[in-house]
Amino acid sequence: MNLFIFSEDLRIEDNKALYEASLDQNGLVALYIIDKAKNNDHGDSLAKLKLKLLALEKIKESLISLNISLKILYSKAISEEPADILNFCKQNEIKNIFLNSEYPFNERQRNEKLQNICHEFEIDFKEFDSQLIDPNQVKNNSGQPFKVFTPFSKRIRLLMSSDILSETPAPLKQKKIILDQDTIPQLQDAYDQELNFSFDDFPFTESSAKRRLDEFIDSSIQNYKEFRDIPSLSATSNLSSSFAIGLISSKQAINKVLAKLPHEIGTGQFTWITEIIWREFYKYITYHFPQVSKGKSFNSKYDYIIWRNDEVSFQKWCEGKTGVPIIDAAMRQLNQTKWMHNRLRMITAMFLSKNLLIDWRKGERYFMENLIDGDFCSNNGGWQWSASTGVDSSPYFRIFNPITQSEKFDPDGIFIKRFVPELIDCPPNEIHNPSIETRSSLNYPEMIVDLKSSRLRAIDAFKSIK
Ligand SMILES: Cc1cc2nc3c(=O)[nH]c(=O)nc-3n(C[C@H](O)[C@H](O)[C@H](O)COP(=O)(O)OP(=O)(O)OC[C@H]3O[C@@H](n4cnc5c(N)ncnc54)[C@H](O)[C@@H]3O)c2cc1C
Repeated sequence: MNLFIFSEDLRIEDNKALYEASLDQNGLVALYIIDKAKNNDHGDSLAKLKLKLLALEKIKESLISLNISLKILYSKAISEEPADILNFCKQNEIKNIFLNSEYPFNERQRNEKLQNICHEFEIDFKEFDSQLIDPNQVKNNSGQPFKVFTPFSKRIRLLMSSDILSETPAPLKQKKIILDQDTIPQLQDAYDQELNFSFDDFPFTESSAKRRLDEFIDSSIQNYKEFRDIPSLSATSNLSSSFAIGLISSKQAINKVLAKLPHEIGTGQFTWITEIIWREFYKYITYHFPQVSKGKSFNSKYDYIIWRNDEVSFQKWCEGKTGVPIIDAAMRQLNQTKWMHNRLRMITAMFLSKNLLIDWRKGERYFMENLIDGDFCSNNGGWQWSASTGVDSSPYFRIFNPITQSEKFDPDGIFIKRFVPELIDCPPNEIHNPSIETRSSLNYPEMIVDLKSSRLRAIDAFKSIK
């Protein structure tokens, strides 16, 4: 019998390892591992964990129609997962394990350990790539991993005209179901915590993710380049949670776009595909540079920055009470909706790591703990980009001024007023930076930091690192 292990690839279609596992018709079991300790260590948000359980309910129905059993395995730590999987295999006479690669260091280590014990117990272990590219196959002209996004994306676009976009067929229906299906636990039973949150805005089936993409292609993608930075508009796909849990693959998404629209520089669809390539880039970087999964800067000299230990300011940043309207609106968007607009992720991350000079890893963790689309590679990449410690990141001296960003991307304060109700009656000419009198009359706090001097402080901190 064969075993397929789910990870961040909760889909039936275009799932290479699941398909391969179905080919020999020897009976197939799919396994989902619930590992509370690992999720705690990695800071996975309850919203994301719940979204995965909702997705699994639907996946289970599809698996039943394919005569594939879905089993849940409870594990106590990622270090114990290989032994737990091995026990499962022994109990159920599993001869072959199939899974798709994951790139963060802990997951890679787990899979290496699993592969070794499989070898010892004569279980065949087969690992596949489910991203756009196999990271080992894409190198620069000197045979080294790319460290700059633009040449990487050019290479990916070249490869797109070869076969990297070919999708894997659906898994074959098995002759009969071998094991009983397990019940998918409720969030409370799986993780001892409850979450009162509506998932209406986030697809949790493959078909609804594809529908969302179709709607986005039909209504917004052509204006994506123009409007994607305006947080008050719904001008982006809002598919990040679907990508993060694997309801939809990069290949499926790019193919759908290309089937409907020409892929020309300057078009909205070209820009959107570039964002998908950013996602792939950060996965690729995580694979080739394992230090980023170990809490280190990509650029090791910035491991020596002396960050400020300022818990009070950090809490104000988390709660959206910094006195900078766009920062507060953004952080409240995250806290209330479990999602944040990309432009705002950059502005808030830069504000924390530069103006407040607080260790970007604290912000990275807070995002992971709250985002429904938390994805280690993209989150780490985005944080290190903003903190100037990362691959191809923003230079340390180019620090966004949050007020200027606010004037540019939320000129009428529509977004600010949506999330900071204290400022609904703020005079329009003060919305980005209310006067002391207005702040006091609206009960809105003073800024927790002076933007000018804190900018210089950050530049000095970075400059002092040789
Ligand atoms: C500090 C910081 C933290 C971030 N954390 C995450 C995270 O945990 N998970 C996550 O999926 N994205 C993260 N991003 C990237 C980006 O902000 C989100 O992917 C995007 O806002 C999701 O909205 P959307 O689905 O409407 O994106 P769209 O604009 O419609 O883009 C389509 C898809 O492309 C990918 N994408 C878009 N922008 C980026 C980017 N800059 N980097 C990598 N992939 C991108 C996403 O999968 C997204 O769904 C982070 C960015 C920053 C600056």
